[in-house]
Amino acid sequence: MKKGLPNRSADYSAWYNELVKKTDLAENSAVRGSMIIKPYGFAIWEKMQQALDKMFKDTGHVNAYFPLLIPKSYLSKEADHVDGFAKECAVVTHYRLKNTEGEDGVIVDPDAKLEEELIIRPTSETVIWNTYKSWIQSYRDLPLLVNQWANVMRWEMRTRLFLRTAEFLWQEGHTAHATKEEAINETKQMLDVYADFAENFMAVPVIKGIKTENEKFAGAVSTFTIEALMQDGKALQAGTSHFLGQNFAKAFDVKFSDKENNLQHVWGTSWGVSTRLMGALIMAHSDDEGLVLPPKLAPIQVVIVPISKNQEELEQINERVKIIQKELKELDITVKYDDRDSLRPGFKYADWELKGVPVRISIGKRDIDNGSVEVVRRDTKEKNSYSLNNISETIAELLDNIQQNIFNSALSYRSQNITKVDHFDEFKKVLDEKGGFISAHWDGTVETEKKIKELTKATIRCIPLDNLQEEGKCVYTGNPSSQRVLFAKAY
Ligand code: AMP
Repeated sequence: MKKGLPNRSADYSAWYNELVKKTDLAENSAVRGSMIIKPYGFAIWEKMQQALDKMFKDTGHVNAYFPLLIPKSYLSKEADHVDGFAKECAVVTHYRLKNTEGEDGVIVDPDAKLEEELIIRPTSETVIWNTYKSWIQSYRDLPLLVNQWANVMRWEMRTRLFLRTAEFLWQEGHTAHATKEEAINETKQMLDVYADFAENFMAVPVIKGIKTENEKFAGAVSTFTIEALMQDGKALQAGTSHFLGQNFAKAFDVKFSDKENNLQHVWGTSWGVSTRLMGALIMAHSDDEGLVLPPKLAPIQVVIVPISKNQEELEQINERVKIIQKELKELDITVKYDDRDSLRPGFKYADWELKGVPVRISIGKRDIDNGSVEVVRRDTKEKNSYSLNNISETIAELLDNIQQNIFNSALSYRSQNITKVDHFDEFKKVLDEKGGFISAHWDGTVETEKKIKELTKATIRCIPLDNLQEEGKCVYTGNPSSQRVLFAKAY
């Protein structure tokens, strides 16, 4: 046990839960599956939002907001969609409570029953396509490239902070296009945006792929996904981008007149990432000492801790720190001076290490005399003394280096944990003893996919986009197969 955290290799799940709580990222609320995101956790989410929002706008999207409550009748308009989401829907049936002033206390007022029940959005395709009907008439109205930042609710039975909650925060893009080709390009473009964000901001390598029919989004023609690998060998679906074909346009009668004045149904996409990304970030990099945050998403990138024997020394240090802070801020580096006088430096070190701050600078009288500072990087825990000349450039370089190093470690872990397997016994053995992704042939049927899941708990995470065509035999049935797919146990 370090810092009161459960042992990561012995009980990964307990380690994760404790880490999230001890680092003040989030906590459970009175309602199962509804979490409270605390300020430190929300600060990371805000950084994610800012980066993603910029990427969406750079690719031509605009933000809008649609209602939380959806008439129940909307949901049933697209048959597959309702099938997929019905079991997870929270329903609003009444609009008033009544205080009985008796034993029952406050009850739902039976006289305030809604004529049409309302669904708390599990996703917004239905309300948005119902709106698009009046927004789209002609080819001039297309493409329509809208994103919304919102909360949604899916009544999940097995929940875990960030990774799977009943209420979660996310963004959902909903676009409408004149042609199939354009909609498919949009679906792929947004998958690339997600992959770019995961790798270059979160420092989490991802595999881009297509979901099987069985795993695709309810109502989509096809679902593209980015899949990441966590340190316990389990996979995590980190983001999805759906090609909706004309399914929602047909369900909600959304048509446009093309240049030749013919009426046609429009083509659609939707794509989303959620606060699950917080879980991915935590699980992909953190260690026994606590969080390891990539510099690009760390709310505090540098912390400075003074080491002084007396007030006079402290004043000298304070003066020097002011200059360092100013220089770092000029390079847009977020810096915190931890001058809490009631705590010893050792305690502060452990505290910031737990919180995952990428760089720690400590500065004492001797450092000032030598014109240097002591710098410790969180990822490798390496300690170095650096000259105060050019300290901001040195730190900026170090932050870049940490960002890259965290990504490289995660990539090397993933590379070591993709195993090619050709026999089912070996499949089960690798899954039990090693975990990770298993690259195996599959006969393409839902029956085999379900059987393998039933026997091993592993699901097909995706058919990788960069797959090679290769003749082989299904790992379970021995039937012919033309390519390998990636299996894993997943969150
Ligand atoms: P979907 O609309 O089902 O494609 O979901 C979009 C994204 O939201 C997924 O790729 C997940 O990363 C995320 N997600 C789905 N369900 C949950 C949940 N219960 N909690 C947190 N994130 C979720």
